[in-house]
Amino acid sequence: MTEQRKIDVDAAMRTFTAQTEEHVIAYAQACLRCGQCADACLFYRTSGDPRHTPAYKLVPIQKAYRAAHSPLKWLGLAPKLTEEDLTGWEDLIFDTCTMCGRCTEVCPMGIDIASIIGQARKAWVAAGLGPEDLLAAADTSRDRGSPLGLTPDKLVERVEWLEDDDETEMPIDKEKAEVLLTVSSIEAMKYPESLAAMAKILNHAGVDWTFSTKGYESTNFGYLAGKPDVAKVMVERLVAGAEACGAKIVVIPECGHAYGVFRWSAANILGRELPFEVLHITEYIARLKRAGKLKLKPYDTPFTYHDPCQVSRRGGAAADARYILEGFATKFQEMTPTAEMNWCCGGGGGVQAMGRAAELRNKAFRIKLDQIEATHTKTLISACANCRLTMDESTKYWHWDGELASIVEVIADHLIEEEDA
Ligand code: SF4
Ligand code: SF4
Repeated sequence: MTEQRKIDVDAAMRTFTAQTEEHVIAYAQACLRCGQCADACLFYRTSGDPRHTPAYKLVPIQKAYRAAHSPLKWLGLAPKLTEEDLTGWEDLIFDTCTMCGRCTEVCPMGIDIASIIGQARKAWVAAGLGPEDLLAAADTSRDRGSPLGLTPDKLVERVEWLEDDDETEMPIDKEKAEVLLTVSSIEAMKYPESLAAMAKILNHAGVDWTFSTKGYESTNFGYLAGKPDVAKVMVERLVAGAEACGAKIVVIPECGHAYGVFRWSAANILGRELPFEVLHITEYIARLKRAGKLKLKPYDTPFTYHDPCQVSRRGGAAADARYILEGFATKFQEMTPTAEMNWCCGGGGGVQAMGRAAELRNKAFRIKLDQIEATHTKTLISACANCRLTMDESTKYWHWDGELASIVEVIADHLIEEEDA
């Protein structure tokens, strides 16, 4: 028998009132109920369930603000957030929002539902709710360094093995370095070649870089799981890694949410400015290309590109991936819609880590698969290991017979080294 969870409504209310930023309050109150966001959301498009409309996901949050701020509260007439609100919306706040931000693109009020959901998750967790596997991933990150148990020792082990296998230098804990290269444990544990690929590109361009055992894990499951204490620990570790080697640039690997959290929220989480620049690996590779430091053989496989939501839409870096592909990938076929209006893979916002969300997420992937099939290509490339993992699972679910690849790995495989020239 499943144990009954104790739900602390007061803790949820305290979290709403204490932690939520003012812009979120404004957003929560600005909704016109026009419904334009419904069709922009992959979950509503898949299920047709009105509960899955982005605006509906805001209802208990709006109620919590009225409960906290309505003048009627002094007369005891303001609405109250209830246990039923919290349990009834739990799946909407967690399982059916990948924080992809697509709804914001069509909202006439520009309401950033993804960031409201991010704030709301903290209140749900304070109340004792939230998917257990997502919460466990956050705790494992805090206790072992990464959600998949990539401890500093395991990182060193992996790096040494990859160095031998790929015959490329992968420095770790250099005293001084211009660039701190970080990893996502999804890559390290499931797609380790991606780490070697980043190393090969940086070495090819003559970059002074290092990994650091002080700060290596760029995913932030504390942020995704609504655990601000864990989110802060994860940010502090990366900053410590960068400060230890005096890095001027921190490069986030192929992971969309890792980039989103560190690029846009880390300074706020930390309460001070970051003393370095933060770039996604595709932004950094584009910079190397602009500086003439990348020599590539043509890539002539027909393929299409999946824009990770947090990189292309919420990160504004869609153009950099295209710039890298320009003149190199001769048979690149864009999806429709693409770039800022891409469809999410279904696994962002921690949804990939929620076992109970798998069925709906796999079904929602049909939208993406229709886009892929319309390009008539059989190779799907992305710049996010979380998207790759999600798409690996969902393409199997739909028996798609194409193959998945990473943009970084494709580039690394097509470098023209001096001995080839
Ligand atoms: S952020 Fe994405 S998943 Fe969440 S409600 Fe908006 S469109 Fe749907
Ligand atoms: S599009 Fe914006 S204003 Fe309209 S219902 Fe959705 S969130 Fe509200």
